[in-house]
Amino acid sequence: MKITRRGFIQAAGAATAISVAGVPYIALGAGKKVVIVGGGTGGGTAAKYLRMADPSIEVTLIEPNKHYYTCYLSNEVLGGSRTLDSIKFGYDGLAKHGVKVVHDTATGIDAAAKTVTTAGGQSFSYDRCVVAPGIDLLYDKIEGYSAAAAETIPHAWKAGPQTATLHSQLEAMKDGGTVVIAAPPNPFRCPPGPYERASQIAMYLQQAKPKSKVIILDPKPKFSKQGLFIGAWKKLYGYGTENAMIEWHGQQEEAGVVKVDAASKTVTTAFGDDIKADVLNVIPPQMAGTIAVAAGLIDDKGWCPIDLATFESKIHAGIHVLGDASNAIGMPKSGYAANSQAKVCAAAIAALLNGQEPGTPSYVNTCYSIAGKDYAFSVANVYRLAEDGSKIVAVSGGVTPSDASPEQLKRDVGYAHSWFNNITNDIFG
Ligand SMILES: Cc1cc2nc3c(=O)[nH]c(=O)nc-3n(C[C@H](O)[C@H](O)[C@H](O)COP(=O)(O)OP(=O)(O)OC[C@H]3O[C@@H](n4cnc5c(N)ncnc54)[C@H](O)[C@@H]3O)c2cc1C
Repeated sequence: MKITRRGFIQAAGAATAISVAGVPYIALGAGKKVVIVGGGTGGGTAAKYLRMADPSIEVTLIEPNKHYYTCYLSNEVLGGSRTLDSIKFGYDGLAKHGVKVVHDTATGIDAAAKTVTTAGGQSFSYDRCVVAPGIDLLYDKIEGYSAAAAETIPHAWKAGPQTATLHSQLEAMKDGGTVVIAAPPNPFRCPPGPYERASQIAMYLQQAKPKSKVIILDPKPKFSKQGLFIGAWKKLYGYGTENAMIEWHGQQEEAGVVKVDAASKTVTTAFGDDIKADVLNVIPPQMAGTIAVAAGLIDDKGWCPIDLATFESKIHAGIHVLGDASNAIGMPKSGYAANSQAKVCAAAIAALLNGQEPGTPSYVNTCYSIAGKDYAFSVANVYRLAEDGSKIVAVSGGVTPSDASPEQLKRDVGYAHSWFNNITNDIFG
């Protein structure tokens, strides 16, 4: 079957809402090379959809790890309802789509010579490059915190071994212990993530160690889906009462963590309070992944400015940046957003490599938060590019109502799990 580019883009947009089998391909060009840096949610999706858009494009995916652990649903690992293995994915599926998977770390991108070099001493030439390295964690913004300290005081903001460490610390904690979560400032990966994490940990503690509690220390005055989270915490975890299992302290109290003493698991807030934890989870401020910095793709705020229709860098032509590392104005830094952006980007690159104009993009994002057993809520949006191209704008969508029925809240847990199965199959299947 042959369809137009526009048709592909529409199919790719729709593919983010429903699972797609056999996306048709567009007019072919020969001998074109795309190198993708980062085989996570954005890079993996872009690799597969480029091969589906135009099988004559040689796609090389550079990714250091043999397995990818999704951050999405990693909070359920902490809550004890999911294993780490269930969020682990390999690259065989992408290889079956003809993607050349190279396990190495990209260390440099030469935009003029159009080459990517790696720590392993390899060099790959490209016609177009996609950079999707996710985030870098700014340890040095918090006194006393570092990559070394994160071995024992995990951030678990990149899933995998850190998730396992935090989980085993929760299991080893005594009943009556205090878990402290230091939330990051905006902008950061997964805006509702710290609050879903607090919920999942409280759910676990309620069953296993009911005298314990979770304290969130936040440098922000408000947070994503706040009303829905607070509503859930009131219903499930006694929020606002003497026996609350979750306490949230926001910016008005200068609650953000500025210092960590790893040895005593004590944090100091901007207000000067010292709080001792039994389990400490510090999620530091963030910026675009290191390779984006090395390649000169970031702005003064640490994120990559891009053309929102094609995800091509505004700094270096021929290099596209997507996912968390990009400044996709109007969309959150989420896995579903990265997946959707990757499809828009893949369609645009396939068009450009075939001497055609990229089509009109549309984007989608749904974000589920699982706050307890049988209790989840979501926000969903379909987006278009603003007419002047300056931002991505939500054109329709919705959020779980605050008076949702127990059935609806339970149904959203099922939807969250099926979303996870669909998106991971969409990327790695
Ligand atoms: C606790 C938590 C819960 C979350 N829950 C959700 C959710 O429910 N729904 C949702 O949509 N999103 C969720 N997210 C957000 C989601 O995980 C991210 O937004 C998404 O992973 C971003 O995709 P990405 O491709 O930009 O980065 P990543 O998925 O992190 O991929 C980046 C990849 O690049 C690789 N890489 C980095 N540097 C290099 C280099 N130099 N060379 C080669 N490879 C490199 C890395 O190894 C990695 O595999 C959650 C995040 C967290 C932390």
